[in-house]
Amino acid sequence: MDKPAIPNSFRTGPDEQGMFGIFGGRFVAETLMPLILDLERHWNEVKDDPDFKAELTDLSTHYAGRPSKLYFAEGLTRHLREVSSAKGLGGGAKVYFKREDLNHTGSHKINNCLGQILLAKRMGKKRIIAETGAGQHGVASATVAARFGFPCVVYMGATDVARQSPNVFRMKLLGAEVRPVTAGHGTLKDAMNEALRDWVTNVEDTYYLIGTAAGPHPYPELVRDFQSVIGTEARAQILEQEGRLPDTIIACVGGGSNAIGLFHPFLDDKDVRIIGIEAGGRGLDGIEHCASMNAGAPGVLHGNRTYLLQDADGQIMDGHSISAGLDYPGVGPEHSWLRDTGRVEYVPILDDEALEAFKLTTRVEGIIPALESAHAIAHAVKIVPAMDKDQIVIVNLSGRGDKDVHTVANMLGMEI
Ligand SMILES: *Cc1c(COP(=O)(O)O)cnc(C)c1O
Repeated sequence: MDKPAIPNSFRTGPDEQGMFGIFGGRFVAETLMPLILDLERHWNEVKDDPDFKAELTDLSTHYAGRPSKLYFAEGLTRHLREVSSAKGLGGGAKVYFKREDLNHTGSHKINNCLGQILLAKRMGKKRIIAETGAGQHGVASATVAARFGFPCVVYMGATDVARQSPNVFRMKLLGAEVRPVTAGHGTLKDAMNEALRDWVTNVEDTYYLIGTAAGPHPYPELVRDFQSVIGTEARAQILEQEGRLPDTIIACVGGGSNAIGLFHPFLDDKDVRIIGIEAGGRGLDGIEHCASMNAGAPGVLHGNRTYLLQDADGQIMDGHSISAGLDYPGVGPEHSWLRDTGRVEYVPILDDEALEAFKLTTRVEGIIPALESAHAIAHAVKIVPAMDKDQIVIVNLSGRGDKDVHTVANMLGMEI
C-alpha cells in the first residue's frame, strides 16, 4: 500500500466524518446514528467549555491524584548502563517513567472514565453501560458510577468472567451489575456487541462508556483528548526537569488509549521518536499474539475501520497476551493511521520479554509494573543500551502490577 501523504500536523484529526485517513468513521446500525450524533454534539459543546474543564481538573486532582509524577528511573538506567558497558557500547540513555500507576484505581483508565462520566451527566443520562475484557475498564467505570451515584451495567464475556474473578468481585462491591455474555467465544468482542445492543434499546437514559480510543466517532477523539493529559503533563515535566524534549517515548498498545494519550502532544515534535508496543504473545508466526498492526489487516469492528486480527475468511480472532489488558482484537483508528503515515513505529514484544521486564523493574526500581506496561519497558530494555548517555527515553507506566501477581506466579511455576 502507498503511504498516505504526510500532513503538516499530525494533531488535527479526525476530519468531520471521524476519519483518520482511511481509518475510523462510524460504522453503526442506522438506529444508533441519532445517539452518536447527539453524543458528538454534546462533546463539541463541552470540549472547550471552561466549566467542564474546571470540574474535570478538580476531580483529576483530588479524586484521581493528578498530575502523575515523571520519575527518573535511576535503578533501571544504572542497570542498562552496565549492560551497555558489558557490550562495549559505553552508552545507555536516561529512562523516565510517567507514573500512571499511581492514579486512583491503579492505571490511566480513570482519566477517561472521569471525563466520560462528566459528559454523561451533562447529557442528562441516568445509567452507565460499559464492556470489559480483563475487567480493568469495568472496575474504573464502576468506580466513577459509584462516585456519581449512577447505576452501572458491565458486559463481560462469560470466559472472561471466569478468568477475572477478583475484578468481577470489585465491580460488584462498587455496586455495578456484571452481565456475562455467552455469545461467540464469550470474550471482549462479544461483550462489545452486547453493549452496543443495550445502547440501541435504551436510547433515552443510557450512556455507553467506551474504555479505549476505539469505537465509532467521536469516541476515539474524546478518549484521546481525555487521556492526552498524560502527554501534556509529561512534555511540560521533562522540559522542567531536563530542559529539553525526550529523544524517544514508548507506550504499550491494547486499544491504544494510554499510548495515544502520551503520544498526541508529541506528534508534531519531529525529533521525538515515538514507539507503540503491541502484544507479541508467543510470536507473530502463530496465532497466539495480539499484534493487529504488525500481523493484522484493515477491517471493521466496534463501529470503526482499523487494523484487526482476522482469519483468512475475515472472521475476527481472539488475541492472546500474557497481559489480559492488551488482548483487544483491534486497535484505535488513529494508531492505524499513524502506522501507515510512518509517524509512529509499532513493534511487538513477546510474553517472555514482558515477564523479564516485569521482574527486572520490580527488582531494580521497587515498582511492580502492570504486565501491559512491562511490554513498553521491555522495549526500552532492548534499545536503551545502544543509545547515548545524554539521550532521554520516557516510558509510560500505564498501571501497577498488583493485579498481575497470580499470572506471574503461574508463569514462574510458583504458588502464592
Ligand atoms: C487497559 C490497560 C492497558 C491497555 O489499554 P490501552 O487502551 O491500550 O491503554 C494498558 N495498561 C494497563 C495498565 C491497562 O489497564
